[in-house]
Amino acid sequence: MNSKVDLFVIGAGSGGVRAARIAAGHGASVAIAEEYRFGGTCVIRGCVPKKLLVLASRLADEFERADAYGWSIGEPSFDWAKLRAAKEREITRLEGLYRKNLEGAGVQIHAERAEITGPNTVRLKNSGQTIEAARILIATGGTPFAPAIPGAELSISSNEIFDLPTLPEAIVIEGGGYIAVEFACLLQRLGVQVTVVYRRDQVMRGFDQDMRDHLSAAMAEAGITFRYNTTITRISGQRGALNVEFGDGESQAAGEVLLATGRTPKVEGLGLETAGVELDKAGAIKVTRDSQTSVSNIWAVGDVTNRMQLTPVAIREGHAFADTVFGNNPWICDHELVPTAVFTTPELGTVGLPEHEARERYKHIKIFRSTFRPMTNVLCDKPERMMMKMIVERESDRVLGVHVCGPDAAEMVQLAGVALKMGATKAQFDATVALHPSAAEELVTMRVPVSD
Ligand code: FAD
Repeated sequence: MNSKVDLFVIGAGSGGVRAARIAAGHGASVAIAEEYRFGGTCVIRGCVPKKLLVLASRLADEFERADAYGWSIGEPSFDWAKLRAAKEREITRLEGLYRKNLEGAGVQIHAERAEITGPNTVRLKNSGQTIEAARILIATGGTPFAPAIPGAELSISSNEIFDLPTLPEAIVIEGGGYIAVEFACLLQRLGVQVTVVYRRDQVMRGFDQDMRDHLSAAMAEAGITFRYNTTITRISGQRGALNVEFGDGESQAAGEVLLATGRTPKVEGLGLETAGVELDKAGAIKVTRDSQTSVSNIWAVGDVTNRMQLTPVAIREGHAFADTVFGNNPWICDHELVPTAVFTTPELGTVGLPEHEARERYKHIKIFRSTFRPMTNVLCDKPERMMMKMIVERESDRVLGVHVCGPDAAEMVQLAGVALKMGATKAQFDATVALHPSAAEELVTMRVPVSD
């Protein structure tokens, strides 16, 4: 085991693993430390297990639709323990792959916590070993933030929800961001009564207003209760039988309370002060566009820098760092026009500007919008509709934003993102022949603006 390396990476999540592997591929001697499980938030308790639960939850809709399509499937029943075990098998498999790939690349692995003890030194918490590193990369991610309310210790965060021994009959979820709404939709479809509590007047702040309206209406229609303009002020009782009190004087019973009230950069106890690494006002590590911190041989990527809390962004930042510093190939992760999805049901996909931001930045814009019943709902006579919206700059005809709410929105927006990244105009979308029958064809057939 080397006690001197070219690069020490703290955190084996999305950003850290990519950076370590690429740097090792460029010939650097690399060590990585992970205090929990290899793969990080995305693999262990984020994107991957969440999407598996979303897929499980959506089968409820398929069972409902089946009869209209000629299938008889009897009375479906759901087994949480079975799903949880299947999820665990898959993330354990992925965790193994992450480790194997690191080992294959020649990265020295430390399955323990690491802390910075100086600009060039890292100490491993359990073994007490000190490693000298020419460069250090901090990729420690984020951690759920819980407001200081009486009884907060009775609540859970997204870290715990994946491994609940049983699903509660009812859950109160506090928060208005993507984690809150995704869990609201999936738990509701798995048979849990869901109440979302949010201190503002509508969930998904910052997203396009039409999409927010469409999604909130669909969630309410599915049976999710919203309590807006209030917060949880106290939780009492015991897990499984909780009493939840709200700021508006009301209260309700619930088996679990999920606090999805944001994530903060994971910097506590990391030794940043010792090395002189500066934080911004939000407690995130301050970095330049190429991820360098205030200390010249220490870099930081991913959620700990609070630029965009997305796996592919952390991966790119890590890759760009490794190519730039060890591969003699400097490049910067571009944070413009990043496609993103919210895996609610209906799903929300978005790339580019929402209408309110486009109006602030551009003088004249045109709005194209279409709402229709997707074909999947026609035979079974479900009323749910799909919404698509395109925002176009009038002078240049450039498409500034594409927003989709409905089945497969994420898949569509990933590809629309390529067109937007290439600077596509509305005329170029229109010149593309529709693929019929599909929902995505609507994106190339919206001829008349609804407003400008
Ligand atoms: P992480 O993946 O969090 O990795 C950091 C690692 O560092 C962790 O494994 C941690 O244990 C370790 N660590 C921390 N401190 C130390 C230390 N001192 N020593 C050793 N190890 C340490 N993003 C998407 O793009 N799509 C999604 O659908 C999506 N869904 C999500 C759902 C949930 C519930 C959550 C919580 C997040 C989701 N995200 C999603 C966000 C995504 O998971 C993160 O943006 C991404 O994982 C960030 O990568 P990272 O490398 O910065 O940090």
